Amino acid sequence: MNRSCIKVLKKKGEPIRRLLLEMDLLDNSARISSKEDYLLLPLTRKPEEVELKELPGEFELTEHEFEEQKGQLKFEELLDVIPHFEIVGDIALIEDDVAEPEKVADAIMKVKKNVKTVLAAQSPVEGEFRTRRFRTVAGEERTSTIHKEYGSRFYIDLERAYFTPRLATERSRILDQVKEGETVVDMFAGVGPYSIMFARKSPNIRVIAIDKNPYAVEFLRHNVELNSVPNVEAIEGDANLEAEKYAGIADHVIMNLPHNANDFLDAAVKLCATNGIIHYYDITPEDDLFESSLKLIDEAAKRAGRTTELVESRVVRSYAPHQFNVCIEVRVL
Ligand code: SAM
Repeated sequence: MNRSCIKVLKKKGEPIRRLLLEMDLLDNSARISSKEDYLLLPLTRKPEEVELKELPGEFELTEHEFEEQKGQLKFEELLDVIPHFEIVGDIALIEDDVAEPEKVADAIMKVKKNVKTVLAAQSPVEGEFRTRRFRTVAGEERTSTIHKEYGSRFYIDLERAYFTPRLATERSRILDQVKEGETVVDMFAGVGPYSIMFARKSPNIRVIAIDKNPYAVEFLRHNVELNSVPNVEAIEGDANLEAEKYAGIADHVIMNLPHNANDFLDAAVKLCATNGIIHYYDITPEDDLFESSLKLIDEAAKRAGRTTELVESRVVRSYAPHQFNVCIEVRVL
């Protein structure tokens, strides 16, 4: 089996192996191999630039033909259909309408040795705080865990605050745009996945992280400690009201509240310094991916006597049939 892999001197391999495992990047279905003085560590996928920066010491990203790891159970051996699930920390999330959830949960725990709990969603993402209800199908009875993403760690209770690992790549895209010395306002910060990532990039990046959900802010504060990022100011409050206090300071405004972000556009414009960029997320239909949302942003800028310049608009992921999660980035002049 051909895999992307990390080639590292044997004596330097262990810390990298452990980190790859933590980042869910080590492919356990392939057998770690060696060549002369080097260890070849098989990967589940090609890592992002930011992930590579997390790995200590010197190494090479290359490809190699690996042998299959014997004794490693596969879903095909346990189930007729490979299940859809998402992993947050050591918790696997399945949908409640899956057939035979107990059997699926049991298979997940056998194949994914890191998983300690399998939860089935009992509700869609709902309410102002965008949370879900779950029931435990297998393993430990809990909804809290620590999730690792690109070297950051997030404590999260999934029933009390929103979190999805599906935006990890999207977050790293925005991270590339945030520069030394800049100020970011994360209007709907949740437990801090965007905010903490920016703050870890440099202590000279100031992050104002706002959320209305008291639990989310409690976890956010915990995560600020966990990741040693005192340059994040965690604020419990309504983004529309808090924006008044921080008018004109933001080089970047993150608006990750798809469905409702348009209710906060006047506040986002107000937050922007000259040339500040609004990163606006929305859920839109395929026949109007960007047009209507762009118009709303332009109108908000006009109301404040300002103009805009489109930086980029892109589809982040598919959300539902014919509906997409999009990101529109607009510079406010
Ligand atoms: N950015 C985080 C992430 O990527 O995990 C959280 C995104 S979640 C879709 C939206 C967040 O907005 C929730 O944590 C919710 O509590 C928060 N929220 C909803 N209404 C708000 C408001 N008026 N002011 C501030 N935060 C709000």
